[in-house]
Amino acid sequence: MNDDLKALIRTIPDFPKPGIQFRDITTLLLNAEGFATSIARMAAATLGPVDLVAGIEARGFIFAAALAVPLKAGVLLIRKDGKLPGVTIAEDYALEYGTDRIAMHEDACAPGKRVLLVDDLIATGGTARAAVRLLRKAGAVVEQAQFLVDLPDLGGADALRAEALSVDSLVAFPGH
Ligand code: AMP
Repeated sequence: MNDDLKALIRTIPDFPKPGIQFRDITTLLLNAEGFATSIARMAAATLGPVDLVAGIEARGFIFAAALAVPLKAGVLLIRKDGKLPGVTIAEDYALEYGTDRIAMHEDACAPGKRVLLVDDLIATGGTARAAVRLLRKAGAVVEQAQFLVDLPDLGGADALRAEALSVDSLVAFPGH
């Protein structure tokens, strides 16, 4: 399924470090039909109406913004801490070495808003799970997450499902 889209994603071995197979979606973005088809299939997989599509910096912004248009939703930016100009709330998450922090404007989402979380790729799910915690802290109703690419062997999508989310992706690659 979606082999047409999978063929547009380039794999770059050993980036950013040895052993990582980097799934480069910039080649899909360069293909007008491939990008439009990706957004159409993500829109078709969306469950029920959503008020906001939350995108994770930086590649998640591209898919969140494009998907928000057919869904008639707004776009909520989840950014690396320190980038947003207004008052923010933040959430920490563990990396292989150390921690990182993502943030959103504290007034970006009124309690009860239905939010669809979007990123280009889910690997371990650390980033997406922190985003869900952040959105729920703001009072958002987050019931679905969508990704262009899943790396299922890393367990991120299953970890999100364990937190009561429906998780969809268009393409999966084995391994790292
Ligand atoms: P994670 O928090 O482990 O789910 O990592 C997700 C984030 O890291 C996404 O925003 C991806 O853009 C990026 N990422 C992780 N692994 C890869 C990979 N193999 N290829 C491309 N991007 C990746």
